[in-house]
Amino acid sequence: MCGIVGYIGDKEAYPIIINGLKRLEYRGYDSAGVAIVDKRTKIYKKKGKVNELEKLVYNKDVSGNIGIGHTRWATHGEPNDVNAHPHTSENGHFTVIHNGIIENYSRLKKRLEDRGYNFVSKTDTEVLANLIEFIYIKGKGEIDAEQAVRLALSKVIGAYGIVIIAKDEPDKLIAARKGSPLVIGIGEGEYFIASDATPIIEHTDSVIYLNNDNVAVIKKDQLTLKTIGNDKREPLIQKLSMDIGSIEKNGYDHFMLKEIFEQPKSITDTFRGRIAADLSEIRLGGLHEVMPKLENAKRILIIACGTSWHAGLVAEYLIETIARIPVEVEYGSEFRYRKPIIYKDDVIIAISQSGETADTLAAINIAKEAGATVVGICNVVGSSIPRETHAGVYTHAGPEIGVASTKAFTAQVTVLTMIAILLGKNNNKISEKKYLEYIKELTDIPSKVEEILKSDSLIKEISALYKNASNFLYLGRGYLFPVALEGALKLKEISYIHAEGYPAAEMKHGPIALIDENMPVVVIATQDNSYDKIVSNIQEVKARNGKVIAIVTEGDTVIKDLADHVIEVPKSHEAIAPLLTVIPLQLLSYHIAVMRDCNVDQPRNLAKSVTVE
Ligand code: GLU
Repeated sequence: MCGIVGYIGDKEAYPIIINGLKRLEYRGYDSAGVAIVDKRTKIYKKKGKVNELEKLVYNKDVSGNIGIGHTRWATHGEPNDVNAHPHTSENGHFTVIHNGIIENYSRLKKRLEDRGYNFVSKTDTEVLANLIEFIYIKGKGEIDAEQAVRLALSKVIGAYGIVIIAKDEPDKLIAARKGSPLVIGIGEGEYFIASDATPIIEHTDSVIYLNNDNVAVIKKDQLTLKTIGNDKREPLIQKLSMDIGSIEKNGYDHFMLKEIFEQPKSITDTFRGRIAADLSEIRLGGLHEVMPKLENAKRILIIACGTSWHAGLVAEYLIETIARIPVEVEYGSEFRYRKPIIYKDDVIIAISQSGETADTLAAINIAKEAGATVVGICNVVGSSIPRETHAGVYTHAGPEIGVASTKAFTAQVTVLTMIAILLGKNNNKISEKKYLEYIKELTDIPSKVEEILKSDSLIKEISALYKNASNFLYLGRGYLFPVALEGALKLKEISYIHAEGYPAAEMKHGPIALIDENMPVVVIATQDNSYDKIVSNIQEVKARNGKVIAIVTEGDTVIKDLADHVIEVPKSHEAIAPLLTVIPLQLLSYHIAVMRDCNVDQPRNLAKSVTVE
């Protein structure tokens, strides 16, 4: 979850590293640290965000051409100066930054303590640093730093992306990965390393994605790649297609706002090249080979976490309604530990913005072992899930930096809608006419989203009225129930207001007890099959003095008379409505969070890609 940056070359390492850490801050931000190699290794680390580290380092010696930096998302040990990375082994031989969790750290720690090692931090990372050193010293000059790292890693259970400085071999960085991503950027007589490509893109577009179980020894003009077991590997050099503008704020106050407003473009990018110019067909090249399996699947299992799980729930409605294939939606974390029943002809769709979500990845491996076909829907090109799955579709939403997902969600739902429509057509569950209607509906989304974004100031006014509420309820039916869940999650994530999403009809079975004049209830009530029912639900809320903020189809007069506030969205087919109705909910949570002085892009306790279980 954390951010890792490393540099080796002829330039000053510190500015490159600190800049990279700022770009990665969305991944984890409870503390930050750097180690710069000159004649000695200089280490600075500090609780808080990267600017706290910058303040600490101000006027200090940070010269040197080799260095590593880290922003932490604590798993072991509270966020404080001591637990911040880098961690140095007791005798100073190795300095380590680490993303992930060493699961057997307590056993290893005990053994090291029995052999006289002392620990200053509470982290699992320091255990790794000392383990490497212990093996290195025990080797009595017979083994080098790289061997010590490989031997230590062979004793480690867990997930890691690590970068190491070895005191006795100060001309190199040693990097290794298992589970947690690492990307190496290739410059002219220099290398960059980072946990994702965002800090690298401004320096080079040639990269190597480190594979699981690989160890890279990086000198300024040479890179060697091996497995932990010491087998040589050839690096596969790839080109990055990201541009630098896509990782900057471009005049917006926050990345989240920029990303909300980018959605007409990001949705267009998602179906670019996938919908024929004459709107006659949907082509999903990435699924070509597995399409027969999908069409014949007795069941589709969708596995995801967080917002991606909500996209999965929308897909359950889409695929069951349009393609008539049974769908189950699972949390990655539950699926992996609950002995799920998986059949060989099941198709698994794994959804993850980062493509690195640890629980989803683990679930994929279980499904693959059981012989199922696995399809990935991810945003980050070259990430782990697309590499682990049999086939997949990239969402192409562009880098999402705001921790609360917005454009990645709509991109995921766009892909899933295309899959549902294509399956419906191929399986003769919808007519050619209906197929073409759906395609037209899809291509109309960007301009409709553009229209909805014009309600921004209205939504801001509504936000001002409810910014001090302690609770919110979100209600929706059918396709819009997952949107209610997503709206509630957005509000929780960034404004820290407690919010619940419910299927509107479930209200009577419990949540209605919460309703009084202090309870804002957001009802997603566009005109669809269950419109009359949701109007009744609004009546029920109003009868108990709840405050209703309704998302309605433009021109709706019935709900306008009932609700305290209405936000209109253009008319659409009900299957498309999630892509439209979620936009006002994103803006509502954004404005409320800003008005409450919350850090919208980096909400407390959260990190962008959840690479630990
Ligand atoms: N497990 C390590 C720690 O708590 C690394 C966490 C991270 O990925 O930032 O320090």
